[in-house]
Amino acid sequence: MGILIQNGTVVTAEGSRRADVLIDGERIEQVAPRIDGSEHRIVDAEGLLVMPGGIDVHTHLDMPFGGTVSADDYRTGTIAAAVGGTTSVIDFALQSRGHSLAEALETWLAKSRGKACVDYSLHMAITDLGADGATLDEMEAMVATGVTSFKLFMAYPNVLMIDDGLMFRVMQRAAALNALCCIHAENGSAIDVVVAQMLAEGKTAPHFHAHSRSAKAEAEATHRAIALAEMTGCAVYIVHLSNEEALRELKHAQRHYDRALAETCTQYLVLSIEDQMPGESWDESKFVFTPPLREKKNQEPLWRALDDGTLSVVSTDHCPFTTEQKAMGRGDFSKIPNGGPGIENRLQVLWNFGVNSGRISPERFVELTSTAPARIFGMTQKGELKPGKDADILLWDPKQRYTIQAATQCMATDYNMFEGWTVQGNAKHVFSRGELVVEDGNWIGETGRGRFIARAANAGGFA
Ligand SMILES: [Zn+2]
Repeated sequence: MGILIQNGTVVTAEGSRRADVLIDGERIEQVAPRIDGSEHRIVDAEGLLVMPGGIDVHTHLDMPFGGTVSADDYRTGTIAAAVGGTTSVIDFALQSRGHSLAEALETWLAKSRGKACVDYSLHMAITDLGADGATLDEMEAMVATGVTSFKLFMAYPNVLMIDDGLMFRVMQRAAALNALCCIHAENGSAIDVVVAQMLAEGKTAPHFHAHSRSAKAEAEATHRAIALAEMTGCAVYIVHLSNEEALRELKHAQRHYDRALAETCTQYLVLSIEDQMPGESWDESKFVFTPPLREKKNQEPLWRALDDGTLSVVSTDHCPFTTEQKAMGRGDFSKIPNGGPGIENRLQVLWNFGVNSGRISPERFVELTSTAPARIFGMTQKGELKPGKDADILLWDPKQRYTIQAATQCMATDYNMFEGWTVQGNAKHVFSRGELVVEDGNWIGETGRGRFIARAANAGGFA
């Protein structure tokens, strides 16, 4: 006996049709216009859309930053993900300088063990090449364990940033291993000068964080990262691309180098400096993250790039801090923990402002939130509704109206970046590997049921 999802509209990246979906154990058994239900437990999906569960490839759960730790651990973070319709996350393990990648991997696996509630994988952030480039040799072992993407920072000098020569060496090795390099593209050296100068002038409020990190600094680094990748043949994925100038660099590079990919995040599509941080209050510290919010005029170009394929993925960069944690930066914006909560609301916001407003189709929504992330990051068992794939299935109610509120959210922060917004379209039921884990919007699964996903090395889907 399996579980039969009947009478729904199956939406995939390729198209939409009335179809039933049969789940056998952890996997999808069959997708067909009509499947006989006599032997199965029936789930009626009348009026609902049946889609592959969301995949958020950019999260920071239980992450140390600036003397504190992000507010969601693997339990609260993955429950929030599931309730929002996301059934897999890729989080970032972070190498400490002077330590090995193996230590970083063990540290992050320990954080997730017994806590992760949906399936998860890890990118490895490289911050130090070690003696005689020992880290480069370790990359092969990482790929063998299924950690097939490496994050490099062009920002945060003296903390996380690696210089162009080191980045180039990592890219060479990644190319040889069919691994993917994920780049935080901002010119950190120039930005740090501007930050110091602003603070010296007494410009300490949260909104100066946004003004200290220009769109140009991101565009320059985006150009440089892709140029270096092209010189090595490495597949490159720009994380959290936030503005039109950086987009122009990406678009230009893609004309001659097809292994250049990028994501944007929910917040850059709907929030702006004008609306969220005009410079009036400390409360704007809620919106201090990096890259910062941009001017409103950047939003439509980002939406168009999602529709025309220039951008491949929408993730969240979920890195939550409470207002109490944010208060560490009172009087000095550079000490405000960088990051915002968003893992729970990605699909709601993208559906409401993307699909409902006609900017993207439902099929493109599935591609951006699930199918492309699975393909690019080598999660071969996820991201599609096909026989043999994991039964990570989202039953989406396109009619449900829902008001986003910190008071009712699963994320551990005491605020929400979209507080009070009413959106239409919400996750109703969610299956993770064949198990109903969210019923009528409520988490009903067991803590710690999520599994580590070993990913294939496929050069961002190009190999
Ligand atoms: Zn991030």
